[in-house]
Amino acid sequence: MSKLPILMYHNVCQSDSDSNKLTVSVQNLERQFQYLIDNGYKTFHFEELDRMGTIPKKSIVLTFDDVTENQLIYALPLLEKFKLKASFFIPFQYIGKTDLWNKATGEQAQKIMTIEQLKQLPSEIIELGYHSYKHERYQSLSLSEIQEDFLKCEEEIKNQNLNVYPALAYPYGNYPKESKEKADFKSLLKENKMKFGLKIGNRPNTFPFKDNYEIKRIDIKGLDSLMVFRLKIRFGKLKLF
Ligand SMILES: [Zn+2]
Repeated sequence: MSKLPILMYHNVCQSDSDSNKLTVSVQNLERQFQYLIDNGYKTFHFEELDRMGTIPKKSIVLTFDDVTENQLIYALPLLEKFKLKASFFIPFQYIGKTDLWNKATGEQAQKIMTIEQLKQLPSEIIELGYHSYKHERYQSLSLSEIQEDFLKCEEEIKNQNLNVYPALAYPYGNYPKESKEKADFKSLLKENKMKFGLKIGNRPNTFPFKDNYEIKRIDIKGLDSLMVFRLKIRFGKLKLF
């Protein structure tokens, strides 16, 4: 069994002064990617992991939520430069709009990529995945509402002829926690042919995964130093930080 850290990013901005909890600066991201390269880490898409029984010792998965335009502008060129793979998760209702679900936070609105932009992402670098249709907490929805949300994703994928791999990042990392509801939720994921479900969890996973629908991701924050980044990759989020 190997350890597999899966990193979770959101926005990327141009300068350190604009970085915050959900936003990492392009300089910081470059230092982190450089560290991965210098230390021999290999990146994988979920589509590859699905076919692999074992992984190299230093394996890592990079994920970006919400397909904001800033990821296209700042993250993609770095991923291309370092030849690192990443998975981008789409909240389908918001394609070509803004991150309206964040409206109440008072943060500046972020543009979400358009269909054309999503289609132009190089598939050898970027794997597209699901981040629900409405970007609502699954825990606050009934099973039939979740099913409805899945149908809307499928409709959009079909209408727009998008190539999306069935890995799903739960909005806010949230999913039903009560055992009965959790079991029903997982059956529904299975019915909808989801292969992987990603929560937050702030620890590296063991691979093969214990539960494909409870894959842990480590939240990389905008203000994490390189030292914190290194520790997070090895141990997950420490109480110290
Ligand atoms: Zn999100």
